[in-house]
Formats: sequence, C-alpha cells, structure tokens
Amino acid sequence: MSITNRVAIITGAGSGIGRAASLKLSKQGMIVALVDYNSEAGEETLRLVEEQEGKGIFIRADVSNSKDVQNYVSKVKEEFGRIDVFFNNAGVMGSFSPLAELSEEMFDQLLAVNLKGAFLGLKYVLKVMEEQQSGVIVNTASSAGVQSTPYLSGYSASKHGVVGLTKTAAAEYGQLGIRINAVCPGGVRTNMTKDLDMSDPIQNGPLRRTATPEEIANVVCFLVSDEASYMNGSIVTVDGGLTA
Ligand code: NAD
Repeated sequence: MSITNRVAIITGAGSGIGRAASLKLSKQGMIVALVDYNSEAGEETLRLVEEQEGKGIFIRADVSNSKDVQNYVSKVKEEFGRIDVFFNNAGVMGSFSPLAELSEEMFDQLLAVNLKGAFLGLKYVLKVMEEQQSGVIVNTASSAGVQSTPYLSGYSASKHGVVGLTKTAAAEYGQLGIRINAVCPGGVRTNMTKDLDMSDPIQNGPLRRTATPEEIANVVCFLVSDEASYMNGSIVTVDGGLTA
C-alpha cells in the first residue's frame, strides 16, 4: 500500500481500536497525529509509535468540544501542512438500560461525543481536505449503527447518526476527490467493553468470537489506502457476520 509519509489524524488514539489503527497506519509509514482526551493514554500510544520507529504527535482534545477540534485540526495543518487521512473514531458506550430508564444526561452525553464529535471532526477536517481537493476519511460507527441493539438505545441512535453523516458527506464530497466511509465493528475486546460478559459464542455471531482491535484496524488501513480507491459512502461491517 503506497501510503508512506501521508499525514493521518486518529481520534480516540489512546486505546482499543484507535491505538491499533495508529500503530498500523504508522507501520505503513504515515505520520500520525494522535488525538484523545486522556493525555496519559494518548502519550502512551505515541511512545508505542516511536518504539516502532514511527513519527507522530499527540494532541489532547475532547472531540465533543468545538474549540478543541478546531485546535487539533489547525495544529496538524501548521505542523505538517496537510491532512491526508482522518480516522474519526473516538466514542463512548454508556451503560445498558431500557430506553425509558436511560437518563437525559446520558443520552445527551452519548450524542455529544459519538455524533456531534463525529460531525465536528468532519466539519473542520473537510475544510482542509476541500482546499487540498483530496483526502480520505473513515468514521467508526458500529453494528449498533445498522441494527437494533436492545438496552443501548442512545448509543445505537448515535451510531445510526454516524452512518447518516457518512453517507451524506460521501455524497457531498466525492466529487472533490474526497472519499468517506464507515466501519461498523461488532464486539471488540477493548477498554470500552472490558466490563461486559462477551463470552457467549452465539451472541458474538457466526464466527463465535469477538474481534481484536487489530482486526478492525486492518480494515481501516485498507479503506484509507489507494487499494480502496472506488469505495465511497460504504458502510463496512467488520463483525464476523453478526449483522448478517
Ligand atoms: P476504547 O474505550 O478502548 O477507546 C476509546 C478512546 O476514545 C479512549 O482512549 C478514550 O479516552 C477516547 N475518547 C472517548 N471519548 C473521548 C472524547 N470526548 N474526546 C477524545 N477522546 C475520547 O474504545 P474502542 O472499543 O476502541 O472504541 C473506539 C470506537 O469503536 C468507538 O467509536 C466505539 O463506539 C466503536 N466501537 C467499539 C466496539 C467494541 O466492541 N469495542 C464495537 C463497535 C464500535
């Protein structure tokens, strides 16, 4: 994959899927700008990138905060002159509860991070990519963004929203040479799911197991590569057949 020296921003880079993707894109030769609101976690990912001879920076930002998003976008532009790749990935899941028991505060928080956060990242990164007339974006949705996920209504609504943003942005920006797709992981073993019992093989779908973060990162790496040059507006499930 000919992606050496491209500049990639990864949000939620401090853990799980974001960390795995940061390491994978860096291994391909990309310069990685790591974004997370957890500085310790983000700095640790940067250390791991540098340990494998990669180049990058860490920028602390809360993706739901517009000022923070504008700050990381302009910092990367100033430091590296361009943004080739954007992995719009940070997210939170909240706790399980029937819809009528879901607090308004929890609902607002899920939408603020997962949906408005994804929107803000798209909004400010697309401004830069529009000027370049090039770029490629992958948003992290979820299997919960394409089918019902009982007791995670707020999370599921936010991820259906990410799917809507992905398709609409792809339709608006494809003509400018910018590709925008989404990955929809099923169950992945990360910090987000560390307290969940994911041991029931049937619940994990046809492959009867959860995914590693690297298995999601591999698909992200493909989607941002030139090998995927005709993929735009695709909602790519990476869930072992769960939603099939
Ligand atoms: P994780 O908790 O391991 O990592 C998420 C990272 O995002 C953390 O480092 C966290 O600090 C950061 N983050 C959270 N909120 C933030 C904010 N407001 N601003 C900046 N950074 C923030 O989780 P993960 O499993 O790697 O999740 C990554 C993405 O994958 C999320 O969008 C999640 O919804 C999605 N996803 C996960 C699974 C799964 O089973 N783990 C399944 C489907 C989709």
